[in-house]
Amino acid sequence: MNVLVLNSGSSSLKFQIIATDMERIQQYKDDRICRGEVEGIGGEAIVHAQYRNEPNRTMTAPLRDMSATLDYLVRYIASDRSGISEIKSTADIHAVGHRVVHGGERFTESALINDDVLKGIEDCIDLAPLHNPNNIRAIQSAREIFGKDVPQVAVFDTAFHHSIPEQASLYAIPYHLYRRHRIRRYGFHGTSHRYVAFRYRALRGLTREQTNIITLHLGNGCSAAAIKGGNSIDTSMGMTPLEGLVMGTRSGDLDPAIVSVIARKEGMSASEVDTLLNTQSGLLGISGLTNDMRELQAELKEHDDRRVRLAIEIFCYRARKYIGAYLAAMGGADAIVFTGGIGENSADVRARICSGMEWAGLQIDDAKNNETIGREGLISNEKSKLLAYAIPTDEELLIARDTVRVIKGEPHPS
Ligand code: ADP
Repeated sequence: MNVLVLNSGSSSLKFQIIATDMERIQQYKDDRICRGEVEGIGGEAIVHAQYRNEPNRTMTAPLRDMSATLDYLVRYIASDRSGISEIKSTADIHAVGHRVVHGGERFTESALINDDVLKGIEDCIDLAPLHNPNNIRAIQSAREIFGKDVPQVAVFDTAFHHSIPEQASLYAIPYHLYRRHRIRRYGFHGTSHRYVAFRYRALRGLTREQTNIITLHLGNGCSAAAIKGGNSIDTSMGMTPLEGLVMGTRSGDLDPAIVSVIARKEGMSASEVDTLLNTQSGLLGISGLTNDMRELQAELKEHDDRRVRLAIEIFCYRARKYIGAYLAAMGGADAIVFTGGIGENSADVRARICSGMEWAGLQIDDAKNNETIGREGLISNEKSKLLAYAIPTDEELLIARDTVRVIKGEPHPS
């Protein structure tokens, strides 16, 4: 089954086509046919597309909205000029899997999209006003292009965290606010945390129930998850993706009173402060330079800039603090797993986060850590009681696999 996986943003669309089915899933023989990204939707858009291991191609096209973008993409993929021999027409795309950011309390697992499910995703717009509308547009556009007979599946960023108990999901604010507005912790990056937890137990030959780990997804957005017995029991992102770790442009945790202090002192509205905390803070806000960890590290090496150093130190300290908190919450863990652009590629950030954690039985192997860049591997030494791994995430693969499983009516995958 050729599954088109879509991850839609406000003006971007990431896509992959992955051939998979139940047999391939069991044998780890999923086949990634092509991948790419469209940026600048709404104007002269830039389209990147790559067929298997061939060179990446870049094109431009005026694409006014999501529907025009998907139409362009599907036509391109099916055309001779793309060179994608597996896809000759829309009929060669058998299903569509969508990353949907917010599933609220209703969606605890991936769902086959019908009118009722679509309405449920719409009901979550309140919780994710910047994200869910884009996902809905992608679903509707795919319906227009492929027709109702091509099944579509929604895979929710929040679903993996549905197992978080109330002691960790509820905020200590008047309870009626939870009842009235569903203000609680939902957590995000669930597909990524779930994928690396699955890879961890495959690497170690463990069962789901034996999976007791802390996963750190460190990319532009960053979150930590405490996974006990295979289930998420806590995570650092909250009602929105702003809470928790320091991120590229997001502050993560802060004293909630700071919001009104900034509003008052800077003459800003609540929503302007919200934007500041989401887009002008984090690594960018502290360094005053960039949200990009790679650039910060290069800058630190070259100029030893004080604020750049501070940005990296605050980022790593916050992550270490969450590891400590989750070790306490879980009653100990077997491993820490790093993923995301920073977690997969920056041995320096991993080493900084893990430094001084010998008390918890964690000892990084410098050589292994430095060698394990962009690939799976153990990065702790033989003496380490708490293991550390780097595991590249692959949300698209999990979305493609969930799409197949949901369509086939297979039990919800662990
Ligand atoms: P997203 O959350 O948007 O998917 P990614 O997971 O791609 O983002 O992560 C992007 C981050 O990863 C950026 O801060 C980037 O600088 C960082 N990154 C990528 N490669 C490296 C590297 N070799 N060293 C340090 N940081 C890196």
